[in-house]
Amino acid sequence: MLWGNRVIIPNSLKETILVELRREHMGVSKMKALVRSHVWWAGLDRDIEALVKACQACLSVKQKPASAMDLAKSALAAHTP
Ligand SMILES: [Zn+2]
Repeated sequence: MLWGNRVIIPNSLKETILVELRREHMGVSKMKALVRSHVWWAGLDRDIEALVKACQACLSVKQKPASAMDLAKSALAAHTP
């Protein structure tokens, strides 16, 4: 079954995909973007959010973009002789 360019995933395959995704630990926004570009199923967003909430590694990825201090520090370091 196709919906646009995306494959609609039946419930039986959904779990397999979620298990594979959990291994990558890419964080909720990246995971959603990746999944949405290839496949679709009802409740996709909710399932991914639940998956990330249950995974410490994914949660730490989610927190990474907030570290503006680290970016500022490395930018400063690059400009210090
Ligand atoms: Zn994870």
